[in-house]
Amino acid sequence: MSTPAASPRDFIRTTVAEDVQSGRHGSCVVTRFPPEPNGHLHIGHAKSMCLNFGLAGEYATGQCHLRFDDTNPCKEALEYVESIQEDIRWLGFDWNGQLFFASDNFEQLYQYAVFLIKKDKAYVDSLSAEEIKAHRGTLTHPGIESPDRTRSIDDNLELFARMRAGEFDDGQYVLRAKIDMGSPNINMRDPTLYRIRHVTHHRTGQQWCLYPTYDFAHPLSDSIEGITHSLCTLEFEDHRPLYNWVLKECDVACHSQQIEFARLNLNYTVMSKRKLSALVTAGHVTGWDDPRLPTLKGLRRRGYTSASIRTFCERIGVAKRDSIVEMAQLEHAIREDLNLQAPRAMAVLRPLRVIIDNYPDDQVEELEAVNNPEDPRMGSRKIPFSKVLYIEQEDFREQPHKKFFRLAPGQEVRLRYAYIIQCVNVIKDSETGNIIEVHCTYDPSTRSGQSQSTRKVKGTLHWVSTAHALEATIRLYDSLFLKANPNEDSDGTDYLECLNPQSLVTLSDSRVEPSLAYALPGARFQFERQGYFCVDSVDTLPNKLVFNRTVPLRDTWAKIEKTL
Ligand code: ATP
Ligand code: MG
Repeated sequence: MSTPAASPRDFIRTTVAEDVQSGRHGSCVVTRFPPEPNGHLHIGHAKSMCLNFGLAGEYATGQCHLRFDDTNPCKEALEYVESIQEDIRWLGFDWNGQLFFASDNFEQLYQYAVFLIKKDKAYVDSLSAEEIKAHRGTLTHPGIESPDRTRSIDDNLELFARMRAGEFDDGQYVLRAKIDMGSPNINMRDPTLYRIRHVTHHRTGQQWCLYPTYDFAHPLSDSIEGITHSLCTLEFEDHRPLYNWVLKECDVACHSQQIEFARLNLNYTVMSKRKLSALVTAGHVTGWDDPRLPTLKGLRRRGYTSASIRTFCERIGVAKRDSIVEMAQLEHAIREDLNLQAPRAMAVLRPLRVIIDNYPDDQVEELEAVNNPEDPRMGSRKIPFSKVLYIEQEDFREQPHKKFFRLAPGQEVRLRYAYIIQCVNVIKDSETGNIIEVHCTYDPSTRSGQSQSTRKVKGTLHWVSTAHALEATIRLYDSLFLKANPNEDSDGTDYLECLNPQSLVTLSDSRVEPSLAYALPGARFQFERQGYFCVDSVDTLPNKLVFNRTVPLRDTWAKIEKTL
């Protein structure tokens, strides 16, 4: 007996709670997450996992199976089976040993098909795929019955056995359900249950040349595993009558219940494996783990935490109507998470040299810097301050407008954790006119934390000491597409035509504070005034730091300034 969840958050949880209450399905809750091992998981799958694993976890005896839906060997591979398990664990879910493969049921599924043939509920058809399509009819016209529909049961049984024995070529015959070619639901017009495919399966090898379709394998796999609630996305709503037909006609002991929910769509990206795979294959991104992709591998490499993804999925909820969720919501979730847990650091992305003329040449001060103002337990660290520093190029303007409160000739700013400086001179390249360095003076009485003076300046800049800073490559990621809905083909543009040429900007001459020398791959930081960054886990080498920008900061600097 399971315990009902406290207060259902969505219509699916309400249904499940009611079923448990009423004793339907023996008051059990068994869900499944059924990925097809033909690509890597994306954040849409995360939504499905949060629902399936999450829901099962809300009941004391609830279970969520991991089932590989491996009935189509053409695009499936072992590589994906392993990677999918890794991603599920990373997201924080566990199938508790309940690992299944639809292919493990091939014999049983075959026997169910024989059972249907014997009941005269399935027949072997020699029509080609094109002919079957042409005979299917439309929403306004009924389909046309195949001439093979009246084949005798014995002939069907013999042909089906010969299909299994490998006597025929791909496409020569299929097994179809005998339902109703006049049904208003096209899925019920004698759908195909089995196809001949002479391909090697990643698990069953050459054992089979006959493979069941999704519509046949899925309900029966659910039933065989004792799934109580089979949650799927809205495209399968029209397949539900077929799902129920298969279970009823096969006389199964466990009749699972299919419930549909809206799939996750995110703006400025694509979510289908087919499109993601095309982006990878065409080299528009560096791989399935490219930080610009909404794959779990990409998001992880970008610096997303699994907790932030789960929070996001929880917040968007489970609805019955399709919608497009804003990427900003996902970014909000990661900012919130990293704000609390990412240590702060100073990094200068595009360095400009600043020389403090009145600072002693060889002096180095170790200044105290707070690791995370949100969490005093994270302590503090020391950062070296010296005569020659780098600041951000964009923090200096030779001719500032009135509201530019950063560094400019004659203007004063505070250096974070350090002193107030004033710009006294600008040195330019005589030929190009480019600024080479900026000279300043500092006021020794204004050191942060020690200053008695009440002098306030409007701008506070981050900086690093040139002699101590580490070189780093910093990758600034932006959305992969310029259009909010790249899937929309109504204006004739293909999604590949609206790729954002600026989706990756690589800065190879950045500098970060020396405390980052020991940052481990995957470590996450808030670079003050810039955003959240993580150490790239693929390209970082012991003496070559590479950071990926997870997400820019929104507006938190304004808050920090008030506390100085
Ligand atoms: P894709 O369209 O990306 O190829 P799929 O549905 O073919 O996805 P599967 O591996 O079959 O991929 O999906 C496994 C599970 O994840 C299914 O139950 C499916 O409904 C669910 N799922 C896939 N994409 C989404 C999404 N965008 N939102 C919610 N659930 C999804
Ligand atoms: Mg699928």
